[in-house]
Amino acid sequence: MATPENKLAFDGGWEYDPAPESTDHVSLKKRYGLFIGGEFTAPQSGRYFDTINPATEEALARVADAGEADVDRAVRAARKAYSERWSRMRPKERGKYIYRIARILQERAREFAAIESLDGGKPIRESRDVDIPLAAAHFFYYAGWADKLDYAFPGRRARPLGVAGQVIPWNFPLLMAAWKIAPALACGNTVVLKPAETTPLTALKLAEVIADADLPPGVVNIVTGAGKTGAAIVEHKGVNKIAFTGSTQVGRLIMRALAGTPKKYTLELGGKAANIIFADAAIDQAVEGIVNGIFFNQGHVCCAGSRLLVQESVADEVIEKLKDRMQTLIVGDPLDKNTDIGAINSRMQLDKIASYLKVGEQEGGAMFQTACRLPKKGYWCPPTIFTGVAQSNRVVQEEIFGPVLAIQTFRDFDEALAKANNTPYGLSGGVWTDKGAKIFRMTSGIRAGVIWANTFNKFDPTAPFGGYKESGVGREGGLHGLDAYVDLGAR
Ligand code: NAP
Ligand code: MG
Repeated sequence: MATPENKLAFDGGWEYDPAPESTDHVSLKKRYGLFIGGEFTAPQSGRYFDTINPATEEALARVADAGEADVDRAVRAARKAYSERWSRMRPKERGKYIYRIARILQERAREFAAIESLDGGKPIRESRDVDIPLAAAHFFYYAGWADKLDYAFPGRRARPLGVAGQVIPWNFPLLMAAWKIAPALACGNTVVLKPAETTPLTALKLAEVIADADLPPGVVNIVTGAGKTGAAIVEHKGVNKIAFTGSTQVGRLIMRALAGTPKKYTLELGGKAANIIFADAAIDQAVEGIVNGIFFNQGHVCCAGSRLLVQESVADEVIEKLKDRMQTLIVGDPLDKNTDIGAINSRMQLDKIASYLKVGEQEGGAMFQTACRLPKKGYWCPPTIFTGVAQSNRVVQEEIFGPVLAIQTFRDFDEALAKANNTPYGLSGGVWTDKGAKIFRMTSGIRAGVIWANTFNKFDPTAPFGGYKESGVGREGGLHGLDAYVDLGAR
């Protein structure tokens, strides 16, 4: 029987029986050390913290909190592996190791998917169908480049940079680790990676995979901890490159810390993307695209379509259909295969979202939320939209990073473009129209790194990803993603 606590219940609606993913195949240790020099070691700091399941508020495991001395140890291990093994290895051999990581990830995909949902709160359907397969695909893709760098940079000689320090957020924990580690290794660098405090588990499981793949000790080091650990990596003198994904606020701090140093860097930061629906769009498909754009992964997506711009003549129809569709979204247990919207990643993030909901109402916006019965424990936010908002409102300008959509209307093409670009961010965007010419005009007019046409939130390892303006510096993914991990010289 469906338990009312974890099911959406609404007037005249229906309920599905629970279809929970089994966790029998999940093996988690009670306590994790730091993965340095090819083995798990106790932190010199002596400190550990709990990682929490945001759907139950229960601790899943204790995880080491790396201090400066630990980061130093990891960087030294990475340097040694770089000088003695990895940078000297024939590129083809490096490629074989990366392929091996990809294959083991595929073999253990079910376990990784369940752990991603347990630790981070995302629906199992997404962990299973998006996060884990894409993470493996990234390793496969960059493994293929390892011995082809001469073709990636014709006429130039690509040399590795050395030790890459990498700091990632909690919204796509394993996928972000793959985005960072795979190109770094393919180019001959070694790595010190810090996962986010709230989602360290799949990175630690990846450390196990890396050990099983027999990578030379120290090629990949995983140090868990909070912001301070990230700052210690950024500031360490033995690091040659910093790759960061996270908030614009922390990105600014990192840029300041790196100014005047020889360290190369890439920053993937926040976003506030416009999803633009023209009157000639296929409306039902567009409504699916809106839902996927903002409610996917609880809106914990840097490139989420968090602003909807809809042409005036179809606005009522689109909003009506959107509300109907929202009513069918199932909010609840992330491990249930029926769930559309899982748990908000942490108490802190839930508080941040809740404060924006208040702000939106104070600014005069009309808030609509679906009538869900939410579980008593855990962190939840029903799908939410704001209509009647102005361009200057904070819910239109600022990144909320939750399942909250701000809806505005426009009359013509130019107004849509002006509104889309009226933001400090420039990470992504979406256009829905029947006319190819409109797609091309809009995609060349929007100042954003990724723009989807008649779809949203589609990712592929071959496609470069990154932002304009306050959304970041540099590109990851595809051929462009190699650039960030090499020095180019004459042949
Ligand atoms: P965040 O606070 O910036 O944290 C990101 C990472 O940086 C975490 O590992 C964090 O550690 C660490 N960190 C915190 N303070 C640091 C410091 N002073 N120096 C070095 N590292 C530090 O971001 P978040 O709130 O976790 O993630 C959400 C943000 O990421 C959103 O703004 C989103 O748009 C952005 N994001 C961007 C992309 C992209 O590709 N552009 C992708 C995903 C997410 P702790 O977690 O332990 O604090
Ligand atoms: Mg957690």
